[in-house]
Amino acid sequence: MSGAALPTVAKAGKTAFAEAMLFTHRGLSGPAILQVSSYWRPGSPISLDLAPDRDATGHLLAMKRDRPRAQPATILAEMLPARLATALAAQELPTLPMAEIGDAPLRMLGAMLNGWTLVPDGSEGYAKAEVTAGGVDTSCLSSRTMEAKSVPGLHVIGEAVDVTGWLGGYNFQWAWASGRAAGEAV
Ligand SMILES: Cc1cc2nc3c(=O)[nH]c(=O)nc-3n(C[C@H](O)[C@H](O)[C@H](O)COP(=O)(O)OP(=O)(O)OC[C@H]3O[C@@H](n4cnc5c(N)ncnc54)[C@H](O)[C@@H]3O)c2cc1C
Repeated sequence: MSGAALPTVAKAGKTAFAEAMLFTHRGLSGPAILQVSSYWRPGSPISLDLAPDRDATGHLLAMKRDRPRAQPATILAEMLPARLATALAAQELPTLPMAEIGDAPLRMLGAMLNGWTLVPDGSEGYAKAEVTAGGVDTSCLSSRTMEAKSVPGLHVIGEAVDVTGWLGGYNFQWAWASGRAAGEAV
């Protein structure tokens, strides 16, 4: 599956990101996964909607009715990258034309496409992380000068502070803005 990419809605808890997802040789990556990883905690599930903006079950049942002779992999390849479609069809459905497949497996596959829930067995850790997602508590710092309230003369900025931005430049912005505030105060 490595290299296959698709739009997805990735969700951890109540936080969701509609962005691209990428299968890699080691697991899942891409903007949606990187974003949601900041909200993921070890042992908890994430859910992935692989057919965003579409009721996958309704679509599969409609295709069974409208295109009874089509192979499921063909139908799935219209919604998903071809390699993913082939793999899912082989794993989840019998090799039969759509008309001969029961509604139940189509419903199960449709539910999975709109809400694939899995518990990641880990992240790549700090070696690959884009942001530390932790640091000095903001309540211990002056928001104007970034000076530590209990240690006069010590200023804490950027990644060293417990401030985490979404992807898209917010972490650079935070590093530069907090650095400038501290520099001006010094
Ligand atoms: C792969 C990757 C991609 C990223 N992409 C984005 C992005 O697209 N958009 C975005 O907003 N953010 C991105 N980030 C996050 C962003 O780079 C950081 O949030 C930002 O650089 C933090 O700035 P900083 O000055 O706090 O820390 P850093 O940039 O880490 O600077 C700390 C500096 O201190 C030096 N240092 C460490 N220890 C010592 C020491 N003992 N003595 C002297 N120097 C020392 C380090 O060498 C380093 O140069 C990305 C991060 C990574 C790793």
